Amino acid sequence: MSLSQTLRGAAARALGKSARVEQIVAMSPRVVRVRLSSARLAASEIPPGAKIKLHVGHGEMRSYTPVVSEGADGTMDVVVYAHADGAACRWVRQLTVGDDVAFIGPSTSVRGPDGPLPWACIYGDETAIGLAEAIVGALPAGTPVVGALETAAEDAAALTDSRLDAVLRGQTHGDALMDHLKQLDLPPGDGVVWLSGEASAVLRLRQALLDRGLVREQLRIKPYWSLKGKAHRKKLERTVLRS
Ligand SMILES: Cc1cc2nc3c(=O)[nH]c(=O)nc-3n(C[C@H](O)[C@H](O)[C@H](O)COP(=O)(O)OP(=O)(O)OC[C@H]3O[C@@H](n4cnc5c(N)ncnc54)[C@H](O)[C@@H]3O)c2cc1C
Repeated sequence: MSLSQTLRGAAARALGKSARVEQIVAMSPRVVRVRLSSARLAASEIPPGAKIKLHVGHGEMRSYTPVVSEGADGTMDVVVYAHADGAACRWVRQLTVGDDVAFIGPSTSVRGPDGPLPWACIYGDETAIGLAEAIVGALPAGTPVVGALETAAEDAAALTDSRLDAVLRGQTHGDALMDHLKQLDLPPGDGVVWLSGEASAVLRLRQALLDRGLVREQLRIKPYWSLKGKAHRKKLERTVLRS
């Protein structure tokens, strides 16, 4: 481990909060739901769409979306997609109940629902399962919810409890979501669309929605990762996604 990683790990532990792993549930081969508890976690401080930065070992921090269950003050869940071989993937695979986890946050990331809506629409991939749950959970009862989450075939079980449609990934990331959107009749009225997951897929969905006549104010967009790397995701956020 490099000196800078050692320092980042020490800083995360010193400056961040500490949580205990209470439960680990495999939702599918690569999607894991982790329940964390912390005396310093009030549910009211975790708005839907917030992010936390988890220390995943060796000085590495990764962003995740906390999901708070009703009446569960002091605990939050994160739904972690262990896609392949990143630091977070290795971390979650070796995690056990009782482990301590340092984290920073919660802090603002995606704007959640802020009042009644004629409808809500959500599109995302495995990384957005937690975000979708947090957004749907914060909508006023009875709000129509449409949209879909895309997973690889082997992880389809992770969407069993989702209120969104489940679509299976084809050869290209996001194609199944684009096909779903083409078939989708949006309900009447000015609803809100949340887009997250892989950056290029998010960009294509955004353009298709604008082409259908939605306006920028109806879109809440946050790419969570990019097939072309983190710098690409950050650049999109600074440029085209800002307009
Ligand atoms: C605000 C925010 C909230 C997020 N919330 C969640 C969440 O709730 N759940 C969740 O699972 N993820 C979430 N993410 C995404 C997650 O932080 C990234 O996927 C992160 O890069 C994973 O870290 P890693 O150590 O596994 O891989 P890294 O070490 O970061 O990357 C290693 C390699 O894997 C690639 N990669 C990264 N993510 C993926 C992926 N999903 N699929 C395929 N390849 C990938 C990278 O491009 C890189 O080439 C969120 C991201 C942001 C910005």
